Amino acid sequence: MGKLPLRARLATTVAGAAGRMSRLSGRGDGSVIGGAVGLRMEPDLLRLLAAGRQIVLVTGTNGKTTTTRLITAALGALGQEVASNAFGANMAAGLASALGRAPDAPFGVLEVDERYLPVMIETTRPRVVTLLNLSRDQMDRAAEIWLVARRWREALANADGCRVVANADDPLIAWAAAAARRVTWVAAGQRWHEDSWCCPECGSHLRRDDLGWRCGECSFARPATRWALDDASVVDSAGRFRELSLRLPGRANRSNAVIALAVAELFGVDMDQALPLLREVSSVAGRYTQIERGGRLLRLLLAKNPAGWLEAFDVLAPAPAPVLLAVNAQGPDGRDTSWLWDVDYRVLRGRPVLVAGERRLDLAVRLEADEVAFELAGGVDDAVDRVPPGGLDVIANYTAFQQIRTTLGRAQ
Ligand SMILES: [Zn+2]
Repeated sequence: MGKLPLRARLATTVAGAAGRMSRLSGRGDGSVIGGAVGLRMEPDLLRLLAAGRQIVLVTGTNGKTTTTRLITAALGALGQEVASNAFGANMAAGLASALGRAPDAPFGVLEVDERYLPVMIETTRPRVVTLLNLSRDQMDRAAEIWLVARRWREALANADGCRVVANADDPLIAWAAAAARRVTWVAAGQRWHEDSWCCPECGSHLRRDDLGWRCGECSFARPATRWALDDASVVDSAGRFRELSLRLPGRANRSNAVIALAVAELFGVDMDQALPLLREVSSVAGRYTQIERGGRLLRLLLAKNPAGWLEAFDVLAPAPAPVLLAVNAQGPDGRDTSWLWDVDYRVLRGRPVLVAGERRLDLAVRLEADEVAFELAGGVDDAVDRVPPGGLDVIANYTAFQQIRTTLGRAQ
């Protein structure tokens, strides 16, 4: 912090005070308001705070927060402080706040909103950019993610000295990352194919087989990978196999972990050093947390978009374990719930399904179309009353998730 110009130092101090006040008044973790105040005082604050540190940027439609957390855990092996926006405040204010709160940390692992990646590359001059996946989210349609990929591609082509770690199994990610000078390709899998039937290079149909994907017309094809997720194991760049054995559930998190290991290796952290640290992570910003409520053990899963719902279904306790689905349509969720129709709900047949949230009727119509039996619930407590003692998995989109956390938090 001593190296910062006076105005930036002052901006950081005021930002920290604003953040603390916001936390004390119970308005979230204070990172956004604090960072916003700091940036008003010194528009160049983020660039100044990032200068001289080794920064990792993490982006993608799904898994950003978890992967950021896993990379932060793995870099813990270096024995030095790592700055991180652990609670997912992923635009300029959140990043500035994360770095401002850890002025002496030599490393920064920062989650970035997909749309802000180019400007954040320009501002923070990262050592590593991590690209997870790209699919339509609750707000936008397929054409917009192609535009996002094009902007990433341009930004990465101009980012000298930046290393990219990218998921080779997602064609749009592969296309964006291919413009970078140096890429570590990871076979991290792709569960959701609906947004990548076409070749990003020429628009022709992509072909998929056991070896991956390739274009039927041009030479665009899945790059050869250095790291791979193989069912429950990771294969590292030297060909060594290790069981992942994470506490975080599901295939999507195993995929995030392999990418985190590939990033850690670029910082000299060996897989055998990093893996025990990844295994200690059991919840991420309230996700996967288990909470007892009325004699039931609730597990909270966040799913914001169609690909996220598929990943959440993978994690569910086996039928006939019950599940509560909660959907809202406030600002951060997207007001339009038509994306609910992009998800295949038939995997939920054969278990009790409860439906809650402001848009429970939209979801109910969708479930009826998939012939999934369900009950409407008034909220999480009503759902708890309706299921037998035991586990209850809860899948919720953004604001529904936050509401449920608040309700459950009050009882603890
Ligand atoms: Zn092609």
